[in-house]
Amino acid sequence: MMTQGTLHRKTIGIFGGGQLARLMIPVAARYGVPCHVFDRDASAPAFQLTPHHHVASFEDAAAIDHFARACDVITCEFENIPITALQRAAQTTRVIPDPRHFAMAQDRLQEKTMAQNVGLSVPLFADVTTQNDVTAFFHQNGPAILKRRHGGYDGKGQKVVHTAKDLHDDAILLLLQAPCLIEALVPFTHEISTIAARGGSDTALLPIGDNHHHQGILQKTIVPSALSVSVLDQARRQTLDVMNHLHYQGILTIEWFVTAQGDVLFNECAPRVHNTGHWSLEGCSLNQFDMAIRVLLGMPLPEPVLVSPRVEMLNLLGDAILKRDVYERSPRTAVYDYGKPVFRTGRKMGHVTFF
Ligand code: AMP
Repeated sequence: MMTQGTLHRKTIGIFGGGQLARLMIPVAARYGVPCHVFDRDASAPAFQLTPHHHVASFEDAAAIDHFARACDVITCEFENIPITALQRAAQTTRVIPDPRHFAMAQDRLQEKTMAQNVGLSVPLFADVTTQNDVTAFFHQNGPAILKRRHGGYDGKGQKVVHTAKDLHDDAILLLLQAPCLIEALVPFTHEISTIAARGGSDTALLPIGDNHHHQGILQKTIVPSALSVSVLDQARRQTLDVMNHLHYQGILTIEWFVTAQGDVLFNECAPRVHNTGHWSLEGCSLNQFDMAIRVLLGMPLPEPVLVSPRVEMLNLLGDAILKRDVYERSPRTAVYDYGKPVFRTGRKMGHVTFF
């Protein structure tokens, strides 16, 4: 006997058309789900992968309403979106994670204060407005790092103060033109990140890798981390503490510093998928995009497990993208080119996973 019926599939909206949206779209397609993308830049990389383009400013209320009406659920691939855009969309459809989490993650002072309220260790920090504040912090606490509270990424909007001489660097005055905070420089041995998703009462955490940065930019992630089980458990537990405290739904990344003594200090968080989780596309039974999408669709979240004993993700920064064919010769690699037309030093152009 023939049967037939109609399947209703949801539509996902993504604010931001960068590489994270570009990587999310094919994973959503595996679930049969189309993605609409909203970006102010018509040449954003994710537009190459979907016919559903919404090109407008994040202040354009009519365009946001139109976008929200087209989508069953909306998420965001970068945290520095005007909160008003998320709030506007939330009047029409569901926005996950909640816009208030974006407001917290947009301000380094708010996120560090949140971490303190949860009871986590954080680097010593202070809100600063003048050069005298910076000088006083340095003399009291030693080497420090001055950071813009809003809008910095990949080490931009930061200045390290190693010695008293650095206090007179023009970069300090330049940074202080906008709200800043200062942190003690942490003598960490490892940087790790936890990537967790929660949908209803289901929670999934990716296995943890070691992240290697150079000049504030992620170079590579190696999984599994070389750190002890107890340190990694501490990072996992603390991630769940943050989620519980915030009544969090959706995907959340937290970056941590780990010291030689095994202390795990909160650095920053992002209410989205993350560069440090790209390895999971090949290296894990459930990748970070699956995790984010499953929450958006109300699907179960089984535990993600490693499918290879060692996975390494290498960012292709700037002109390193020109060497991608070298990696393509190797059988257990996956090369990603984000389709950006112009490369410049430090720009994330693609990545390679060795698995
Ligand atoms: P952030 O944008 O805050 O993640 O900073 C970018 C990178 O700068 C981090 O991944 C660290 O490598 C370094 N960094 C940031 N804050 C500190 C700190 N308090 N102590 C030492 N290194 C830091």
